[in-house]
Amino acid sequence: MKPSSLIPPPALVRRAEQQDTKALQALDSAHYIHPFTDHADLATRGSRVITQADNIYIWDSEGAKILDAMSGLWCVNAGYGRKELADAGYQQTMTLPFYNSFFQTTNVPAVQLAAKLAQLAPAVGGRKFEHVFFSSSGSESNDTNVRMVRRYWDLLGQPQRKVIIGRHNGYHGSTMAGASLGGMSGMHAQGDLPIPNITHIEQPHFFENANPGESEADFGLRAARWLDEKILSIGADKVAAFIAEPVQGAGGVIIPPATYWPEIQRIVDKHGILLISDEVICAFGRLGHWFAYEKFGIRPDLVTFAKGVTSGYVPLGGVLVGDRVAKVLIDKGGEFNHGYTYSGHPVACAVALANIELMEREKLVERVKDDTGPYLAERFEALAQHPLVGAAETCGFVGGLVLVKNKATRELFDEALGVGMRCRAHCFKNGLIMRAVGDRMIIAPPLVMTRAQVDEMMELIHRCLDATLDELRTEGLLA
Ligand code: PMP
Repeated sequence: MKPSSLIPPPALVRRAEQQDTKALQALDSAHYIHPFTDHADLATRGSRVITQADNIYIWDSEGAKILDAMSGLWCVNAGYGRKELADAGYQQTMTLPFYNSFFQTTNVPAVQLAAKLAQLAPAVGGRKFEHVFFSSSGSESNDTNVRMVRRYWDLLGQPQRKVIIGRHNGYHGSTMAGASLGGMSGMHAQGDLPIPNITHIEQPHFFENANPGESEADFGLRAARWLDEKILSIGADKVAAFIAEPVQGAGGVIIPPATYWPEIQRIVDKHGILLISDEVICAFGRLGHWFAYEKFGIRPDLVTFAKGVTSGYVPLGGVLVGDRVAKVLIDKGGEFNHGYTYSGHPVACAVALANIELMEREKLVERVKDDTGPYLAERFEALAQHPLVGAAETCGFVGGLVLVKNKATRELFDEALGVGMRCRAHCFKNGLIMRAVGDRMIIAPPLVMTRAQVDEMMELIHRCLDATLDELRTEGLLA
């Protein structure tokens, strides 16, 4: 692995500086419709143009160096500037840049990657994952899940089992099905979502949803039993599946109490419904395991993945299909009328294979589990001492802290004050990417981050929290 001191040479940075930021911003706002962006706002402020990256750092067109504590968008697990991944993409592009996997054809990297994933995915409770379906994103993969789950129950002669249950504030993508499975109210409010036969239960968010005096363990059980109540209210014979992220990412890094997942498993087993573990963020080392279901002792039937499988270098997603579903689809299903042009894209699969090889060689998963992950936990969780922080926790290499008005009473700030966004602005100013979800500040750093870089990041986080505190005090919003 590269030492942290190996940052892009000054010549490269200078080249970035020479780009005309204002001209790029004008073109950007004139022509490029961005995801999840207020364009009127963008036009007045201009976007930040990111021009290059190495290791855990990115640079903007003004030459500012920024520590990327979000791994791009939870995906650059192996860090930036990995030549092995570029080489794998180049080689495969020159050998076979594209061929489809439809109509009884295949390609070498897709076969090898499917076999490799089957080998990496641990068997739990006698359930194995011998099969993989490929897509190009997390959203597409969850659309595939909806199609597969419904096909599965049709083939078993139970076509009335249509309802899929997700969770409020869960995130499963931005396509029609993905956004419907997710429980983001802002997304549902645009475009008549959710689509029919998708419903939600409340999230297991101890900080916000626990009753006064309730223990975490009791809250975890109570939150899991919301699923049981929901299934019973719909009629168990109409429920097809439950989908959830092992740790909610985009919802604000919400780590469920230890009692939650075992109880969820008991409930889905009791009703015989399928369990989908959406590991688009949580897999590929993010929580210190290749797949997060292992960490939580969950026995899912389908596992969604994307992002970290290629460390974000090229788009690739997919679904690990457990034996229970695969057997029915293969033995009884005939042709499954579903697939994407880029399912099993050779270049994407070749980069994924190189990424997995790199992660194995550098023992990135083990490092997060046994070394840098526990170290990050120790340092990050100490932030709970800061006057502005109500709670701070991590799980592997994701972390979240909640900004509060009153630590003792856990009183939150008025939403209108946008305290999270204020903090995020200080992060930008101080050369740190941290994401704000309401007033929760979250991180998901590249897995190559060293202990020294954890220290560097923590120093920046402290500086940004202090600056936010100062700002709130100066404006008289905090005593
Ligand atoms: N599921 C989860 C858990 C995610 O975090 C995301 C993206 N953040 C998605 C699905 C959607 O993935 P994509 O943006 O690649 O479509």
